[in-house]
Amino acid sequence: MASKAIPVTRSSMPPFEEYVDEIRGLWDSHWLSNMGEKHQAFEKELERYLGVDDIALFVNGHQALECVLEAMELEGKVITTPYTFASTTHAIVRKGLEPVFCDIRPDDYTMDPERIEGLIDEDTCAIVPVHVYGNLCDTDAIEAIAARYGLKVIYDAAHAFGVWRNGVSAALFGDASMFSFHATKAFNSIEGGAVCFADPSVRERLDQWKNFGITGVETCEYIGGNAKMNEFVAAMGICNLRHLDEELAKRKAVAERYWEHLDGVRGVCLSKPAAGTRPNHAYMPVVFDDAFAVTRDQVYDTLMAHDIHARKYFYPLTTDLACYAGRFDPSATPIAANIASRVLTLPMYADLALEDVDRICDIVLGEARS
Ligand SMILES: *Cc1c(COP(=O)(O)O)cnc(C)c1O
Repeated sequence: MASKAIPVTRSSMPPFEEYVDEIRGLWDSHWLSNMGEKHQAFEKELERYLGVDDIALFVNGHQALECVLEAMELEGKVITTPYTFASTTHAIVRKGLEPVFCDIRPDDYTMDPERIEGLIDEDTCAIVPVHVYGNLCDTDAIEAIAARYGLKVIYDAAHAFGVWRNGVSAALFGDASMFSFHATKAFNSIEGGAVCFADPSVRERLDQWKNFGITGVETCEYIGGNAKMNEFVAAMGICNLRHLDEELAKRKAVAERYWEHLDGVRGVCLSKPAAGTRPNHAYMPVVFDDAFAVTRDQVYDTLMAHDIHARKYFYPLTTDLACYAGRFDPSATPIAANIASRVLTLPMYADLALEDVDRICDIVLGEARS
């Protein structure tokens, strides 16, 4: 029992000296924010990595999502998923839009395209799906429906940085995609976020919205907020991006070790990457169904007793959050509710030792034998 604590995640960081070298020049320039040299360099590196023509950086993913919803000039109802982090639903509501919740698929937990059309009415303006855990949505089906009804598609791709499908990066789907570079994500810049977009004219509006709506030296045409990324954060992103492929390879080894232990166990459902995708192994979700000897909450408590920190992610659904009490109907999305009550994300990070994965799985599987 004296084993060390295992956190659910642990942020990747570059060697200290590498970061110091990256920020040294800031002591010459004294340029600390407002789209300086590091900000520009980080954008270029991200464009190269993702294979996109343009990317707009933000202080975090949430502000990026709010800004892109604003820049798209949306009004009315937005079809989205309750099986996500509070941020997705909050961004929609905070922009004065009305979320309409679509249920998810039971195998990859992304929005079920077959349920979208029934939710569309004359007030619907957009679809905001989430690439949950880095599992890419059925983008073809979603975008075909959007095209038929003239709706925008804006992906919450907070989990999907570094994911490709058939050689196409997750940045290239829909009208826009938001990425988060938060410390807990597979790729981080401490805090940070970005938007990739299909229509190049969106760029100018994003730049204006993240900088108070300022449109010129003496003009301010929009009531924008402040969502700019600073130079120290951009420098961290540049350093971490250099090491990302190694970090993702280490995550892959961790994921494969988990699968070795858990694949095929009665009552344990894993969501493995779909054929043709290059995954980022951002999370290790495990769903415990009725065939498992104990409940998700019991597994969670037993792990906690061993100082192993798993997370009920996503639980509760955003429709069940206290701030939305009485506002939405959680029974409208029964599959999402069922998964939320059974899911646990196990510890997952690049430096997680494979022996620790063995120990975690021993404890989880010990529950099944108990
Ligand atoms: C992390 C996250 C966000 C918000 O990103 P921040 O960079 O933390 O603001 C939004 N949506 C999802 C699904 C997330 O996991």
